[in-house]
Amino acid sequence: MRLSRFFMPTIKENPSEAQIVSHRLMLRAGMIRQSSAGIYSWLPLGFRVLQKIEQIVRQEQDAIGAQEMLMPTIQPADLWRQSERYDAYGPEMLRITDRHDRDMLYGPTNEEQITEIFADAAKSYRDLPRMLYHIQWKFRDEVRPRFGVMRGREFLMKDAYSFDLDFDAARRSYNKQFVAYLKTFARLGLTAIPMKADSGPIGGDMSHEFVILAETGESEVACHRDLIAADWGNADINTEGDLQPFIDSFTDKYAATDDKRDPEAEKALGDDLVVARGIEVGHIFYFGTKYSKAFKAVVAGPDGSDVTAEMGSYGIGVSRLVGGIIEASHDDAGIIWPEAVAPFKVGLINLKTGDDACDKACEDIYRQLQDAGIEVLLDDRDARAGAKFADMDLIGLPWQVVIGPKAVAAGVVELKNRARGERQEISADAAMALLTA
Ligand code: ATP
Ligand code: MG
Repeated sequence: MRLSRFFMPTIKENPSEAQIVSHRLMLRAGMIRQSSAGIYSWLPLGFRVLQKIEQIVRQEQDAIGAQEMLMPTIQPADLWRQSERYDAYGPEMLRITDRHDRDMLYGPTNEEQITEIFADAAKSYRDLPRMLYHIQWKFRDEVRPRFGVMRGREFLMKDAYSFDLDFDAARRSYNKQFVAYLKTFARLGLTAIPMKADSGPIGGDMSHEFVILAETGESEVACHRDLIAADWGNADINTEGDLQPFIDSFTDKYAATDDKRDPEAEKALGDDLVVARGIEVGHIFYFGTKYSKAFKAVVAGPDGSDVTAEMGSYGIGVSRLVGGIIEASHDDAGIIWPEAVAPFKVGLINLKTGDDACDKACEDIYRQLQDAGIEVLLDDRDARAGAKFADMDLIGLPWQVVIGPKAVAAGVVELKNRARGERQEISADAAMALLTA
């Protein structure tokens, strides 16, 4: 992509409406624009990141056998009357009336919809287990939408739902999602700590919020020091095997948010206790037959008797993660994207657009990178070098290749690593080798 043609409206000054760094940087880098409170448009740069995150989430869901589908954003109110959540949900639900005076709503979540679909189709125990998910926009009319995409009203969520024959099978599904979450967040460059969460009357110990630590987090979290350093997302683990020992190995360690915190347990931890602020990026929970009863998701068991499906649901805040990753990875100059979600891998800066030698050197590398399948953004604008450096640091691509008259004359390019700040002058070939390695 050529920056001279790319729609990336960057802003120099800090927008006054943004209170936290990720919101400021997303606006300044031209990733998003607000439409109304808590509702955003995703501009090309931001949309690329959103899609990369979505793809990683999708791959890890597919890896545990969850099947992708797509349910609508607009749902009929009757669906929610059947589970008795239509009135219970309160003012967070956006209620709509269609031209025939039918009550509709913009879905804040999809338990009702998926259970109705499943209940209608499932007949026998052979139809279980099933795990289904979609990645779809949700609407919740939050009292205080704030912090940009972190607490929006319209936001993108991955929500998965499991249907199982009995409690043990439901636990196996829960455990698979647990491990998929660890892997997903590790691939996104995040340390997400599973913390005991409220599960209502039936969840028992099967409810965890996945939290990343950040000063601007909305909840106060406390946990054992070891959980922060843990690298379990990269553990080599077969999700077809018994996952319980692996999961127990760290759910045995203390970790809790807000009202789940236990002062006694925290005192006992002494120096091993870490208290910090955190951002909830995912939530998994088991809820038994709450919805399957309401929608009669009942199948004939192996012995012919009726079995009501055991369910769990598993959410990831895909759009919140864009902000969360920036909160975890930035400096004074701007964003520092982990390579896996960067909108482009390489930013190629032409310091003197219009100079034949610089233009040619840039075009050569630009073509070579593209031929090698590497996503590259070429700054070929007719602008000052300082402005080009500032924009490139702001948008945070992992690598910068800088080409100016002096370097061209010397037969080298400058290669900069955005995260480490290291610069090296090397031949264009050596740079290519490094970037394609
Ligand atoms: P919160 O406590 O932050 O309101 P929640 O408990 O309401 O979250 P869930 O219903 O479990 O959230 O939704 C699953 C995931 O969706 C959350 O873990 C979070 O990452 C994301 N999410 C929830 N509400 C919002 C929002 N208003 N804006 C962006 N992401 C959200
Ligand atoms: Mg909420």
